[in-house]
Amino acid sequence: MRAIVCESPGNLKVFEKEKPSPAPGEALLKIKHVGICGTDLHAYAGNQAFFTYPRILGHELSAEVVDINGTADHLKVGDRVIIIPYIHCGSCRACVVGKTNCCTSLKVFGVHIDGGMQEFVTYPSDLLIAAPDLSPSAMAIIEPLCIGWHAVKRAGLHPGDVVVVSGCGPIGQGIIWSAKSYGARVIACDLNEFRLEQAVKHFGADHSLLVGPDVQDQLSQITKGKMADVAFDATGIKPAMEKGIDYVGAGGQYILVGLYNGELSFHHPSLHAREISLLCSRNATRQDFEEVINAIDNHGFPLENYVTHKANFVEFSEKIQEWSDPKNQVIKAMLDL
Ligand SMILES: [Zn+2]
Ligand SMILES: [Zn+2]
Repeated sequence: MRAIVCESPGNLKVFEKEKPSPAPGEALLKIKHVGICGTDLHAYAGNQAFFTYPRILGHELSAEVVDINGTADHLKVGDRVIIIPYIHCGSCRACVVGKTNCCTSLKVFGVHIDGGMQEFVTYPSDLLIAAPDLSPSAMAIIEPLCIGWHAVKRAGLHPGDVVVVSGCGPIGQGIIWSAKSYGARVIACDLNEFRLEQAVKHFGADHSLLVGPDVQDQLSQITKGKMADVAFDATGIKPAMEKGIDYVGAGGQYILVGLYNGELSFHHPSLHAREISLLCSRNATRQDFEEVINAIDNHGFPLENYVTHKANFVEFSEKIQEWSDPKNQVIKAMLDL
């Protein structure tokens, strides 16, 4: 069978390897689609924190069950499944309180261990969710949507809340879509006009703000001086993350979803005076996966506007360079196997 390995930054190689066989408690899966994440692009570019090479990438996955070793009541051979890529320990403090998304020994499939850019993988059966009503491509974007869904749940939004989403890539668009399902009024912020346009046209944003020197004034005008109840950062870029706290109104929340590999600094009196709640949001839980699947069933999702680019195994190494260019019009790219 074939696999694609990222041997070192900028260097992807298709190679042949032996088909694996499932250990007890595992299923053998045929991978169908792999969503390409910022993590994959950063790993390819060589600027992903705590990353080691060689690595088979791919954690946004849809697959078909080919074989099951042991009993798995929720699965049968032939089922189409979504992979929850967060392999957690079940016994650390985070796991015990139900926050498996930030398990202290978390291994993310395709990040910390080899992932899904290969024809077949073996995977723990209890981290698979059958979703017979979703298309295989939709199944591969559940994971990135769950990141936004989880962050929006952290906020505890109420209908009519004013939300600012800074960064309208695949995670930001997912935050916008999730916040809209809570009845929030959403203001999308980005430097990229295409992404802003998509946010308003397809993902439900009520306003868009092109980031520039007067962004704070514009936001103040839109919100009649109140600013946001909740601001989300989905940029992972230091200056944007440090600026985003200025979008929050008194008593509001600032939620960091993007990850910056370094230190951030904030002016404490300005946070303190407004009693800002500063939260981080990492990964997602099984419950988020189940809720996102239901939300898509209930409200639909503009899949064709989210997955903007596709490639197969052969095209992939060329396409990934193109997709990494920040000026291009990619929301989510996908590898089809
Ligand atoms: Zn991802
Ligand atoms: Zn744990």
